[in-house]
Amino acid sequence: SSYVGASSGGIAELYAQMQKAIGATERVFELLEETPEKINSVQNPASNHKIKGEVTFQNVAFSYPSRKEIQVLKDVSFKAEFGQKIAIVGPSGTGKSTIASLLLRFYDIESGSILVDGKNIYEYDLENLRGNMSIVPQDVILFGGTIKENIAYGKPNATNDEILLAAKQANALNFIESFPEKMETIVGERGIKLSGGQRQRIAIARALLKNPSILILDEATSSLDSESEKLVQEALEILMQGRTSIIIAHRLSTIRSADQILVLDNGKITEQGTHQELIGLENGLYKNLSNLQFSNS
Ligand code: ADP
Ligand code: MG
Repeated sequence: SSYVGASSGGIAELYAQMQKAIGATERVFELLEETPEKINSVQNPASNHKIKGEVTFQNVAFSYPSRKEIQVLKDVSFKAEFGQKIAIVGPSGTGKSTIASLLLRFYDIESGSILVDGKNIYEYDLENLRGNMSIVPQDVILFGGTIKENIAYGKPNATNDEILLAAKQANALNFIESFPEKMETIVGERGIKLSGGQRQRIAIARALLKNPSILILDEATSSLDSESEKLVQEALEILMQGRTSIIIAHRLSTIRSADQILVLDNGKITEQGTHQELIGLENGLYKNLSNLQFSNS
């Protein structure tokens, strides 16, 4: 996947995600050094503001700095009201993950604006903005340390009971307790190797603890076997409650109940509506994708 990293915790996870995504350490440092300074357009923004979770894209256009000649997003507009589930679907390479990266402020947009609770995201303190968001990507990378540390990363002062509850709600407690060291089990490169679905459930537990107002799921269930998928999907349903969720989905079955579905094609939103509305569009891309997926399964 060409997904460029994002963090539900902070710099360590961001670093791990980016390292994986980009593969070049130097670029990671460049990005980490550039991002906050370049982007903070307001002096001393409030650092502890609790975001409600309304997300607005207004005519957003964007090209990656390394590939200026290709406009990845063209005039993207949508609005997610507080608590809504917004799904983004479309062919691979069409700009879905880029939307998530822009909301998390990994890159500057070219034109248009992105608002959170009606305020331009560049007017927020960066840590404050990201502190109110979590992302569960397709491929979760844990940092080297214990399972407990990886979960508690979402809330450094969490109590043991809070960590256990989050793990339980994330459908992670059973497998964690099957290890001899349980919560103290070391994971990451030098530790025990967890499956993709297990890593995702750790990321979900972390996000539950963090309690973000805005949740981004980027193809969070697309590479799992059906047993894992069921456990992850259940955990995600719990995680999505009471927050604004932006769901980038491969499998359309997971987004039928979304409040709005955006179909992105070649960097543009070509269709927008509920599942019922979109399957009613003759020759629509959503209708075609939908027919294809359901005749195959
Ligand atoms: P999707 O998530 O829909 O599969 P992406 O948002 O990942 O698509 O990518 C959209 C386009 O941007 C693709 O052409 C991809 O190759 C390109 N792209 C993604 N990340 C980067 C990057 N870090 N630098 C340059 N181009 C990128
Ligand atoms: Mg993607």
